[in-house]
Amino acid sequence: MAKLPKNPVENWEIPAVEALRATPDTRVADIQTKGTPGFVGDKALGERLLEERGARLSALQELLYANGRSGDTRSVLLVLQGMDTAGKGGMLRHVIGHVDPQGVDHASFGVPTAEEKRHDYLWRIRKALPRKGQLGVFDRSHYEDVLVVRVHNLVPPDVWEPRYEEINTFERELVESGTTIVKVAMFVSLDEQKARLAERLERPDKYWKFNPGDITERGFWPEYQKAYQAMLDRTSTEHAPWHVVPCDRKWYSRLAVTELLIDALENLDLDWPPADFDIEVEKARLAES
Ligand code: ADP
Repeated sequence: MAKLPKNPVENWEIPAVEALRATPDTRVADIQTKGTPGFVGDKALGERLLEERGARLSALQELLYANGRSGDTRSVLLVLQGMDTAGKGGMLRHVIGHVDPQGVDHASFGVPTAEEKRHDYLWRIRKALPRKGQLGVFDRSHYEDVLVVRVHNLVPPDVWEPRYEEINTFERELVESGTTIVKVAMFVSLDEQKARLAERLERPDKYWKFNPGDITERGFWPEYQKAYQAMLDRTSTEHAPWHVVPCDRKWYSRLAVTELLIDALENLDLDWPPADFDIEVEKARLAES
């Protein structure tokens, strides 16, 4: 059977993967969080395309899964890192929600547990890596250990400082072992964050998302910007580049991440695994059964 044809990506003047890739010139303070880099179209179109492209993402993920079942050891890992309210939860529901949950290895990383604290910061990350054939999704990640940890001096600089290089080495090994890493840094503006937190305080169906600590963290915005800048500067590598995704418009950020995943999966150049049985023999056996 023919491979899934690679369609031209409509309505993207510049493909998401190019438009969003972090460069040495990326300045966190200058990110246009309301922007829609690369995309030409409005919300209505973006939402329609999300459904269409979600279906393609689903088909590609099924190919990855099928190959994994047939011995291919590759996997894809989506790393979502962003400020509170950037929309990580929505990314899971509206992007990853398109694919068969059987094929998704999801992990979220909060304040380390007592057991996690007894180990190296990468210990819990290694345990959560996607299995072969799986689409892994990290909701927060090892980058917390150079973000919140750096901003709040949870460990001294001589401990967090070497982590950038350690992370690069860790990710290189991961890529060499067959995992494509799609790193997404999600950015909202301080104002948009305020509006989203206000909504959580207004709507009973959103109270559960509200965490008083999120307001405290707003006071550390400049420090977070600095930490995000260092993260982009020091860990956007050839083998695992960062993508800078403006998130004030949720429809855009969801469509953009869908495109990034589609691109990663298409680059694996997968085909349906061949039958490992004699088709004619099995047809004959079935007819006689
Ligand atoms: P979310 O806010 O994403 O819904 P949680 O309520 O579990 O999820 O909060 C996660 C919190 O854990 C965040 O404030 C985050 O900064 C914090 N966190 C994650 N990793 C670490 C870490 N390694 N050290 C300290 N805090 C961490």
